[in-house]
Order: sequence, then structure tokens, then C-alpha cells
Amino acid sequence: MTRALARVLAGDVQAPFDVPPADNSAVDGYAVGSADIPSAGTRALDVVGDLAAGAVFAGTLRPGQALRIMTGAPMPPGADTVYPQEVVQRDGHRVSIGPIAKGANVRMRGEDVEAGGIVIERGTVLRPQEIGLITSLGIWQVEVHRRPRVALLSTGDEVAEPGTPRRPGQIYDANRFTLRGSIEQCGGEVLDLGIVPDVRDVLSARLAEAASMADVVLTSGGVSVGVYDLVKDVLAELGTIDFWQVAMQPGRPLAFGRIGPATFFGLPGNPVASLLAFMLFVRPALGKLAGRRRLFPPTWQARAMERLTKKTGRREFKRGVLAFRDGGWEVRSTGPQGSGILSSMVAGNCLIVLDEARGDVAAGEMVEVEPFTEAF
Ligand code: AMP
Ligand code: MG
Repeated sequence: MTRALARVLAGDVQAPFDVPPADNSAVDGYAVGSADIPSAGTRALDVVGDLAAGAVFAGTLRPGQALRIMTGAPMPPGADTVYPQEVVQRDGHRVSIGPIAKGANVRMRGEDVEAGGIVIERGTVLRPQEIGLITSLGIWQVEVHRRPRVALLSTGDEVAEPGTPRRPGQIYDANRFTLRGSIEQCGGEVLDLGIVPDVRDVLSARLAEAASMADVVLTSGGVSVGVYDLVKDVLAELGTIDFWQVAMQPGRPLAFGRIGPATFFGLPGNPVASLLAFMLFVRPALGKLAGRRRLFPPTWQARAMERLTKKTGRREFKRGVLAFRDGGWEVRSTGPQGSGILSSMVAGNCLIVLDEARGDVAAGEMVEVEPFTEAF
């Protein structure tokens, strides 16, 4: 269980016994039988023992008796109610008690989980609380899904490796790092194949190599209609193209297909577009491959606080800042929305999703928002 964090459970976890396994005290105090509870005034009982958590009382509590009990210690036979120590008067071997509800301060056997019940469903991503619940059942190993292996490449003669000198006309690679983090966040294992130049044979060889070692091959750049946009052609030679270009903005150039057994995603080069296309297409695919149950993040409605321009006929994704104010969710755009402006992703905390049929949005209209949730 020490290595299970963030992994995806492959089978349901069932409780091998009731949790808690026995009725036990929820407080430090005195266990009594409810027949001894006075309906008014006080009554004195004999304290017949002192029970620590982890110990079990050997006898049975008789009428007129109380047992000092610690939080978590099992209830003795004959007792069904616990007085917190603050509400009683102790005097030597006697304790004086007043009225209290029958059954107070007792945690019932099986109240958390019943034996045989499914505690956690397969497909769940294990957070610290799931891990704790599993170990509380005495289970120390679980089966998890294998992480999907994702081979990752950047394409482009102009793309330079961060940490190395940059020639005039070059830009530093952003996509390989936004994508790498995104893959890891959704439970994938990254095989980083670096930067590939816009040279057909080199690209072809690297894609073939990538497909031989990974479940998914992910590239960025080289999927638009420029002379050096070779990814689509090479994909058609090496494998199959299932679709190319999507009616969305940003992220229109997007190639999807197969190379041998590997699934291929050719993401756009512009940094916002590639990250967005990852979120919309690659993340659910990796989630599916990883065995996750939930593939799509929740969305909700918010009031647009400013006018948003929108072309009909395509779905647009603006980067927005979402806030709860005066009893409702409000969203405004992060400013310039160019598909190369990665700082719009940094400034934003959500996507504003405007569907195909919609035109310009007036201030005050409701829009769909998808909060950036790093791990959902
Ligand atoms: P392309 O589709 O290859 O023409 O790329 C579109 C735009 O994205 C160009 O301005 C590229 O310089 C830019 N770009 C491509 N790859 C990357 C990358 N890995 N990091 C940052 N920008 C990139
Ligand atoms: Mg390029």
C-alpha cells in the first residue's frame, strides 16, 4: 500500500469484516447499562474496572455497575451507553450519573462498513483517504492497473531544448513540458523522445520507434497545412489517420490515428492549443487506458461578466477566471486569447466552453465553465 498513491484500483475492495469490528466507545468515560440511567436527578454506580483501548472486559456489567472505558475500547456485555467523563462525578469507587440518551456515545459495529460490502470500487484513483480505508481493513496489497506508456516528442526545426543556447529564430520547447506534466497528472508514464526536426525520414523513423515502445504516441507541432507540417503525411504512410482537424478553437489542427498497436495523437504546435487538445482528447483516452472510472471533469454554469466574441460553426474554449461572488459563479476571460499565449492558461482557472451554435456572448449571459482540476 505504500506505493499505491495515485494508482488506479483494478478490482473492487471488499470489507473482510465489519468496521468497526465491535460496538465501542466514542469517548473517554463510563459505560453503563441503560436500565441504570436515571430519568431525573442522579444515581451512583460502582466502578468495577478500567478498560483501555485495545483491552477487552472479561466479565459482564451487572445492574448498578459502571466500567471506566477509553475511546475505541469495545463495549462490555451488559452496557449500551457511555457517559463522557466530563459529565459525571467520580468519588472513589463510585460514580454519580444523571439523565442521558440511551445508546449515547457508542459507535456501532459495522457502522462504517459492513462485512462483504464494497468499500472502494475498481477504477477509483487512490487518494490518501482510500489508502487509509483499505489498510484499516488489514489489507496491505491491492491490484492496480498498469500505467499507460506515452511516448512524447516535439517537432520543429525552430524548437530548442531549454537549458541549451538558442539560435536566432528559435523558440524554447514549452509543449513537451506542459504535456509531460499533463501525462503524469493523469497517471501515465512518460517516455521522452525529445525534439525531432522537420525532416521526413527522421520523423518517420522516430515515430516508428515511438510506436514500438509505447501504448500512446504524442507529438506536438507539424499538423497544420504548412510546407514543413509533415506529421500527417508520415502518419498516413506509417499507420492510419482516423481524423484530422476538429471544429474547435484553439486546437483545430489535431491528427488522430494509429501506428501499429499504438494510438497516435498529433497535437497542434501552439502551446495553448496543444495543452487544450490534450485536456479534451488525450486525457480521457489515457484515463480509459489506465482503467479510470471517471473520464470527464465536472462542468457548471457561470455568468459571463464581459462580452465574449464567438464564431458560429465551431466550439471555442476561452481561458477564464471563475469566482464566487454575491451568491453566484462569475467568469471573465483572462484577456488576449491567442493560441500561442500560454500565460492565458497560467492566469486562468477554468475553460469557458462555447458550443458550435452560439455566437457572441453578451455580458450577463450564462456560459458553461470547466474548472481546471489537476487530478479529478
Ligand atoms: P506548427 O504547427 O508546427 O507550425 O507550430 C505552430 C506554432 O507553435 C509555431 O509558432 C511553433 O513555433 C509553435 N510551436 C511548435 N512546437 C512548439 C513547442 N514544442 N513549444 C512551443 N511552441 C511550439
Ligand atoms: Mg512546426
